[in-house]
Amino acid sequence: MTVNITESAQSAFIQQQPIKMLIGGQWVESASGKTFDTINPSTGSVLAKVAEGDSEDINRAVAAARKAFESGPWPKLTPSQRGRLLWKLADLIEQHAEELAQLETLDNGKPIRYSRGGDVPLTADHFRYFAGWATKLEGDTIPVSIPNMLTYTLREPVGVVGQIIPWNFPLQMASWKLAPALACGNTVILKPAEQTPLTALRLGELICEAGFPEGVVNIIPGFGETAGAALAAHLDVDKIAFTGSTEVGRKILHASEGNLKKVTLELGGKSPNIIFPDADLKYAVRGAMNAIFFNQGQVCTAGSRLFVHASVYDQVVSGLTGAASKMKLGQGIDPATELGPLVSHEQLERVTSYIATGKREGAATTTGGERPGDELAQGYFMQPTVFDQVRDDMTIAREEIFGPVVVALPFEEIEEVAARANSSIYGLAAGVWTSDVKKVHKMAASLKAGVIWVNTYNQFDAAAPFGGYKQSGYGREMGHAVLDAYTQTKTVWVNLR
Ligand code: ADP
Repeated sequence: MTVNITESAQSAFIQQQPIKMLIGGQWVESASGKTFDTINPSTGSVLAKVAEGDSEDINRAVAAARKAFESGPWPKLTPSQRGRLLWKLADLIEQHAEELAQLETLDNGKPIRYSRGGDVPLTADHFRYFAGWATKLEGDTIPVSIPNMLTYTLREPVGVVGQIIPWNFPLQMASWKLAPALACGNTVILKPAEQTPLTALRLGELICEAGFPEGVVNIIPGFGETAGAALAAHLDVDKIAFTGSTEVGRKILHASEGNLKKVTLELGGKSPNIIFPDADLKYAVRGAMNAIFFNQGQVCTAGSRLFVHASVYDQVVSGLTGAASKMKLGQGIDPATELGPLVSHEQLERVTSYIATGKREGAATTTGGERPGDELAQGYFMQPTVFDQVRDDMTIAREEIFGPVVVALPFEEIEEVAARANSSIYGLAAGVWTSDVKKVHKMAASLKAGVIWVNTYNQFDAAAPFGGYKQSGYGREMGHAVLDAYTQTKTVWVNLR
């Protein structure tokens, strides 16, 4: 197979050795001089060397962010000027869309059709949406019951914010974190995931080009246990926003203890996707495919528990099996690819081990479960996998796999399926497929999840709040809901007597 990587992904950016980090407006090597390799998961080969940030680099970045927050041009900018910078950044993202899409696909493995059609345009859209909010952060006047008192609130930024993001949507996750934080006037230290640092760093160059003052955004690539942990524990960081696993979310919370920094967490899921017999089944099968196989199943909202009414179970499972077995696996950069590799060797091992556990516990695959051979053998590929004969208490039905693996589970009654769907430590998202309006609202009310998709799945928009119930985290991203996470309220009492 020939794959054309156009010049845009061979840009000056990726030719740097190593790719540097952004601290206080300067591109610098790590204090230790150390670097790490970022790998192309489609081929297993090294894409670039990247400066490896550690606690010393985090200290410098926090000092730069503090300085930019307390003094210099940033706190003096008007809300309109902040909004313009965000809008300009969105324009620059669009101007470099093809380069960003290729970098994202090379570093993460995701099919280029999604990087081009989803990741990059949604990233630009996110900055535009929050550009608008910069001028709309209003306080209230409060009708207190004390005579001659004028009482009002101001919404102020939280301060220096640490943002730790995962590898599944590197560019979009950077925008979900940066856009609201900057709209609200905070300064930021962003730590991209060690598997996928490239697009966040290229975004850093565009942030500088847009004209954000130095120190407002600092980007430190590095590992979780070193750079990430140092950021989470830093006593001069006012808030941490984290997206990643529930296990690491717990560590972030512990690390925040020292200065009681504010924490928001967007964590794992094991989302139920429920098909009733009155659904348009052809459409529902397509929806179930998208729910689990989009982004190789490496999506925190993945519809990984597929509940299907017993009367249509065989039909749906065979439709899903047929469609999954026909998916075109390939290198992310190949425009024909529908399913790319998993992000890393470690992730491939994790998914492979879950598949083995599923079989050991008595479940059976109807398709997939193996690595493809031949020309894809060097990459971290796993076939799309459907499990049948699954019980709710099996490991593969309870734990987040974060790969292209779905378990199919038959049900009989609406109350029964609601209870089984809710029987999880997670509560991020849920899908419902039905043409009965009563079922729609009954299920929307009874499912314990932050997002409910009805006759659709994996829909996201900068304007719609997103976040988890239960151990899927707390706080909301997107929409006006996220503004609470990046502002604090000050109440002012003025005695007019
Ligand atoms: P995954 O297991 O899917 O790789 P993680 O939750 O480990 O997801 O990673 C998400 C982000 O959290 C990454 O940027 C990673 O470097 C970071 N991270 C991992 N461990 C820690 C830690 N102990 N403290 C802070 N950040 C961490």
